[in-house]
Amino acid sequence: MRKTLLITGASRGIGRATALSAAARGWNVAFNYRQDEAAAQATLAEIEALGAEGLAVRADVADEAEVVALFERTVERFGGLDGFVNNAGIVDHSQPLVEMSAERLRRMFEVNVYGAFLCAREAARHLSRERGGRGGAIVNVSSIAARLGSPNEYVDYAASKAALDTLTLGLAKELGPHGVRVNAVRPGVTLTDIHASGGQPGRAERLGVTTPLGRAGDAEEIAAGILWLLSDEASYTTGALLDIGGGR
Ligand code: NAP
Repeated sequence: MRKTLLITGASRGIGRATALSAAARGWNVAFNYRQDEAAAQATLAEIEALGAEGLAVRADVADEAEVVALFERTVERFGGLDGFVNNAGIVDHSQPLVEMSAERLRRMFEVNVYGAFLCAREAARHLSRERGGRGGAIVNVSSIAARLGSPNEYVDYAASKAALDTLTLGLAKELGPHGVRVNAVRPGVTLTDIHASGGQPGRAERLGVTTPLGRAGDAEEIAAGILWLLSDEASYTTGALLDIGGGR
């Protein structure tokens, strides 16, 4: 029987690549998106073309009611949950901290921290054997920014990802006894639209050449790490932070 995976933010980028890799490896895949309905429908069609069942739900991860409903719809549709990828995240324009508005900081932490924590909480509630779940795995999508700090670019984003790293360490200890592994991948610069959304469409290519491997990563290379952490091959791996950043 196919297992069920829920991914946040899979209308494009790393989330979409993870959804397609998972579908190809035998998972059914539910996912959410925030606004781009057409892109979400395209991902859904690609999931189904790979022979998997899919579900696309519009939900803002920073809205508690929408997050709760996202998990409930997934479990209703597929009869349970086996894996969760906490992927949705945002950046903003490059600025030193002294120039950042309170509104920017609030939205950054609302989506990347509050939203990711709400999603992790719901995943824990649905996966934990103690609460009637089947056990499984959670993968948080952090960033190597958490250890670089991203000075003059976005220290708010970097700090939001450091919070995800700490969530990973603590939640792995909370949920290990209840049959749930919790790990993080920390991508380096990866070729997705997130850089354009932060006002720097060429950022990944520009920084990629400065890495030891001499290029930016592809979303599929990040997805490969996520899929491994979700798989039974990683059955003794929990609380791990896996850097996939070309050596940066
Ligand atoms: P992306 O291409 O910008 O895609 C972001 C996805 O998240 C989209 O599906 C978007 O949906 C969704 N999303 C954004 N805000 C949301 C919200 N409030 N509620 C629900 N969904 C929301 O990003 P990406 O590059 O694939 O990044 C994925 C993750 O990897 C992020 O957590 C990011 O921080 C992390 N990461 C990326 C890189 C990189 O270089 N690309 C490096 C390190 C870490 P809509 O399209 O509908 O808005």
